[in-house]
Amino acid sequence: MSICPLCNALKQLEVYCPQCRFRLDDSGKVSDFLDPYGHYNDEETVKMGDGYPTTAEEHICPHLMFCPQCGYQEVRCIQEES
Ligand SMILES: [Zn+2]
Ligand SMILES: [Zn+2]
Repeated sequence: MSICPLCNALKQLEVYCPQCRFRLDDSGKVSDFLDPYGHYNDEETVKMGDGYPTTAEEHICPHLMFCPQCGYQEVRCIQEES
């Protein structure tokens, strides 16, 4: 069984804001508070193009990364580990 290292606090993702270079906060798993299917048109998500709709099969956990300084947001697909 695989678990997401971010959800389980095993790892932290270091991602920096493309707009202001501030470190992004991990706001948690997208599906916890957003409809994941509503988020596709966002430029960053499309760029990843790694089969968002199949997250369950591929053991990917989409996380919302958020910049507390300028409000920038992006979704990162985290590979779950076993
Ligand atoms: Zn997760
Ligand atoms: Zn920012």
